Formats: sequence, C-alpha cells, structure tokens
Amino acid sequence: MEYLDLTPYKYFSFPLPMLTVGWLGAGHGAQDSGAPPMTAADLRTLRAASRRRGMITLGWHSCDFCPRVEDWLEGSRSGNGEYHYYGRDGNTYAAPVMIMHYVEVHAYRLPLQVRQALTTPGELPWDGRAERLAEVLLAPSADMEWRAEAAIDLAHWHDPRALAALRQAAYDEELISIAGHDVGISIGMLLSFDFASGLRTEDLPLVVREGITEALRHPAQDEHPAAGLW
Ligand SMILES: [Zn+2]
Repeated sequence: MEYLDLTPYKYFSFPLPMLTVGWLGAGHGAQDSGAPPMTAADLRTLRAASRRRGMITLGWHSCDFCPRVEDWLEGSRSGNGEYHYYGRDGNTYAAPVMIMHYVEVHAYRLPLQVRQALTTPGELPWDGRAERLAEVLLAPSADMEWRAEAAIDLAHWHDPRALAALRQAAYDEELISIAGHDVGISIGMLLSFDFASGLRTEDLPLVVREGITEALRHPAQDEHPAAGLW
C-alpha cells in the first residue's frame, strides 16, 4: 500500500486520526520531501520510536524497490504491522514496519515535521489522544481490535492514568483472551516509573504477567533494541 507522506491515514480502522509516513511504493518512489538526509541521530531516534509494532495481523508489506525473492527470504524487506509515533505536536503518525528498511537501504528521508515531533524533549503530555485510547480500552462495547490496539499504544504515555487503565483492562476476561500479552507488555513498560512503585502484579492473570516478564526482559534503555521487538 502506498500513500503520500503526511496524508490522512486510512489503511485500517483506528480510534484516532493519524497521518501516514513512510508508505513508499513504485508510484512515488522515496517521496523526496526536501528534508535533509537522515543523520545517525535521526536514525537512532526513529529506531528507538520503532520498538513496538501494532496492527500486526492486519497487513503485510513488502519492498517495491528490492528485487522480489521467495517469501521466506524476504527478511527485512517485508514486514507485518505498523509503528505509531505519538508526536508532541499533537499528531499521530502511522508508518509500516518497513520504514527502517526504507531509511537504511533506500535513503528515505523522514519529513522534518516528524523528526521534530519525535525529538521534542520531555514526556508526552496526557492529552485527548490518551483519553480516547483509555476510553476505548475500557469500553466493553468498543471494537475488540481497537481495544487491543489501544492496549499497545497507551504505553506511549508514561502516566499513572495509562497504568491505571491497563491494570483495570487486565481483569477484562474477553479482552485478555485476545490481548492479554500486549496488556502485560504495556504494564511492564511502565513499571520502572515512580508512579508504578508498589504496584502489585502477583494477582494479575497469568498471560498478563507473562507479558510483563517479556517487557522487563527488553527494557527501553536496551542498547540494541531490535526493530519490531514485539
Ligand atoms: Zn527495499
């Protein structure tokens, strides 16, 4: 699927409006945005922001620029799922997992607007996007795929309200049956913050605790985070 950068995302249904970034294809090539080449720091920032995939079962992408090979050999030239970047500029950017490949192999240049959104210092402030995701996560009547995606994306907010929503979600049996592992990973990603001190996890469902264990195995300060770790 190919979209011009910074156009409204419409590949799949998602509870928040998003802008596309890095959806390259044969029609528009690497989409020269006029931005300068990516520096090593830009690359580190993007890689750090691209640790956790969402929308995993929904779409498979492969590189239009590399020669076609057998599916099992595709490796980094194809991928399943998306990264969501929650900018401090209030925008949410959706990229295919292939974005790192496009940067590293095809000299794709992330638009400056997105680089700036990713590097603005400070924590992401709790905002309307966070409110919406927390509301979707906890709404039994909401679309179950939305709820599962909300469980993944809420961990972008290092905020006690995100943790409280995830902890409450951990006891929703229907949600946990499909997204328990992701709920656990998100809780695990928030456990190192002061607001999480004293949080008891022993009474959480097993699948959630397994997710927590997995998150703790790959802390955010890991020097060599694999892109698309989860
Ligand atoms: Zn390629």
